[in-house]
Amino acid sequence: MTAKNNVNPHEIHKFGSHAERWWDPNGELKTLHDVNPLRLAFIQQHANLAGNRVVDVGCGGGILTEGLVQAGAEAFGIDLSEELIEIADLHGLESGFSATYQTISAEALAEQQPASFDHVTCMEMLEHVPDPEAIIQACSHLVKPGGMVFFSTLNRVPKAYLLAIVAAEHVLKMVPKGTHDYKTFIKPAELSQMARNAGLDLKALIGIEYQPFSKRFSLGKDINVNYIAAFSKPD
Ligand code: SAH
Repeated sequence: MTAKNNVNPHEIHKFGSHAERWWDPNGELKTLHDVNPLRLAFIQQHANLAGNRVVDVGCGGGILTEGLVQAGAEAFGIDLSEELIEIADLHGLESGFSATYQTISAEALAEQQPASFDHVTCMEMLEHVPDPEAIIQACSHLVKPGGMVFFSTLNRVPKAYLLAIVAAEHVLKMVPKGTHDYKTFIKPAELSQMARNAGLDLKALIGIEYQPFSKRFSLGKDINVNYIAAFSKPD
């Protein structure tokens, strides 16, 4: 697999089709809005954002990217959906939390700007690409030695199938049908092995838990559905 074709055009089209409603806190991307403060808090626990350059890989319409800017980072968002990059740009102008955005792959940016970012974030994207390991390698090339790399994804265990697909897509209709494919989910041990192969050390792993009664998310010990991992790039 070359960097050029490490993309599933169907996925890019699927996410691009939600561009207009990306920033609707009650729209199709509601879940990303709901978890954003939690993932930002986790990132800030492990990385100093203020005044630092951070690249957000697979940024979509910029929900996390703007959070990074709000936290004081100089953020750069990349995605292969042109529609989403356009929405991210426009929203930044409106909100005042502008980042720089570009339609470019992680692999291409890593070739152009190796070891150029203090930290890297890549949320809810690895399960949508044909070769997640190549993205992890690219993220490791993008970060400076001593920096942190964050990934979030879904665990390939039955509980994630039940909650992230059966419940979230079909019963509660929290996300559009067909958003996720169980086969592409990644176990934490697989993620940390791929990251280790890319020269990254696991520092922390935390679950994003959903409480169906309060309809709220929180960070916790249960990594069986959605989880975030923090890796460091040794000096
Ligand atoms: N990271 C954002 C968006 C997650 S949705 C957030 O958590 O708020 C998944 C995103 O990954 C979509 O924006 C989609 O366009 C993007 N994506 C999928 N495959 C990609 C690839 N190969 N390179 C870059 N972005 C990709």
